[in-house]
Amino acid sequence: MSKIYNFGAGPAKLPEEVYEIIRNELTNFENSGISLLETSHRTSTYMNLNVEVQNVVRRLLDVPANYKILFLAGGGLGQFAAVPLNLISRTGTADYVVTGAWSAKAAKEAKKYGKVNMVLPATDRYVDIPDQSTWNLDPNASYVHICTNETIHGVEFDFIPDTKGVPLVADMSSNFMSKKVDVSKFGVIYGGAQKNIGTSGVALVIVREDLLNQALPICPSLLDWTANFKMDSILNTPPMFAIYIMGRVLQWIERQGGLDAMAELATKKASLIYNIVEESNGFYYAPVAKNVRSKMNIPFRIGSEGNAALEKEFLKGAEALGLIQLKGHRDVGGIRASTHNAVTLEEVETLAKYMKDFYKTHSK
Ligand SMILES: *Cc1c(COP(=O)(O)O)cnc(C)c1O
Repeated sequence: MSKIYNFGAGPAKLPEEVYEIIRNELTNFENSGISLLETSHRTSTYMNLNVEVQNVVRRLLDVPANYKILFLAGGGLGQFAAVPLNLISRTGTADYVVTGAWSAKAAKEAKKYGKVNMVLPATDRYVDIPDQSTWNLDPNASYVHICTNETIHGVEFDFIPDTKGVPLVADMSSNFMSKKVDVSKFGVIYGGAQKNIGTSGVALVIVREDLLNQALPICPSLLDWTANFKMDSILNTPPMFAIYIMGRVLQWIERQGGLDAMAELATKKASLIYNIVEESNGFYYAPVAKNVRSKMNIPFRIGSEGNAALEKEFLKGAEALGLIQLKGHRDVGGIRASTHNAVTLEEVETLAKYMKDFYKTHSK
């Protein structure tokens, strides 16, 4: 079979080296004679892995000692509920900065558990992040929620908002571990693993310890950060295999040179695509404002209004070359190239060449 180039947004590509490791470790984990898939989560074998994965998270992100690291079932959506369930009790109200489909979904989920203040004016065309001086922040909010990278709309924060002491909570599902982040500026960071750091089913949650112990009484134990922390993330049987894969991906990131190396690579890959868009005399069109263009998910159209026939032809031609999962999300249409951590520069160069060729043969 010829090579497949996977530009899917998530579950996204995993590093080839990690597949090799998983293959080798699948049936005999750490010389236990059995697979991790049939190992009890209460064994020292699993607890060693649990600590190993926590440690690599700490090293990569320089996580300060007063932050706890949790591995929780239920992915990103699970945490959309967990955030208000664990934090909104302080004042009963929370600020949501909606910059795309995912933060909109997070806000909608939070409304089930308290009052939600929309910080930005409502829109369905997410192409920018308004200047912070225009934000309608509520000083009484229990927390301020942002999504640092909108996977569908391709809008990525290029700054950390100043929330005047109100805990900042960030959904980093689709740009987790793609660059260095000053964890101390956040109250909570969370994300599903399947975009940049592993496979689906698990959320990585990093929570400042003073934000524990305030869950609403109705909070399910499964989503209760404090209950999970007290049990070292084995309150119930955790998604052990997904946590294991996350650990192996994070160790791979370390071997690549850590988050600075990931950031450099991400910039190179994204620039390749955006530059072709910019140099196409309007043939390709990227709707997002330049300063907040995502380095992980690059949505673009053919023509500013989107030429459906040409876009279809583009996608068909791409698939014929093995360039797959490039169709834009149904909410925005067009084309989306996701260039998550495991997508190589060579793979993006192949897409870039296809884009150039397609432009040459189809522009007047
Ligand atoms: C994919 C995604 C989610 C949802 O993750 P699930 O694990 O599918 O629940 C949440 N937020 C962002 C930014 C995402 O990209």
